[in-house]
Amino acid sequence: MAVLPILRWPDARLTTPCAPVTGDVRKLAADMLDTMYAAPGRGLAAPQVGVLLRLFVMDCTWKEGRFAPQVLVNPEVLWQSPDRATGPEGCLSLPGITTQIERATELRLRWHDLDGGLHDATLTGFAAICAQHEYDHLDGILTLDHLDPATRADAERALL
Ligand code: ZN
Repeated sequence: MAVLPILRWPDARLTTPCAPVTGDVRKLAADMLDTMYAAPGRGLAAPQVGVLLRLFVMDCTWKEGRFAPQVLVNPEVLWQSPDRATGPEGCLSLPGITTQIERATELRLRWHDLDGGLHDATLTGFAAICAQHEYDHLDGILTLDHLDPATRADAERALL
């Protein structure tokens, strides 16, 4: 178990689409959870630690005192609600800025766990937002990519 360095924008690995996981990622997932809790954050995608594979970890409740670590391997979005809402999002790879991002309020996801088991769940609330944010990372998409050009320019200036 280890806390890994988190890449920061504009590292090119953060904007590169990731490849499907095909091997054992137990060690990587354990290290990613350690890294997420240490940051501290509630979600972390593999490309944020420089591994261009399709997995992310999240725990939406640990900051409220209830640990619920989740590892999602090769997640697929099956459905997004037409209902959308805008809220503030930070990102461990974009330290110091928070941006207003519009997301679907509900999301149906399918993913594998570390034992290869298949899961399917509809996420709501903060979990739905967190999962969409982390899923974006697997496609090389950052919150910056959701902003209009003027807002994005302001955000980039704040990061540099
Ligand atoms: Zn992020």
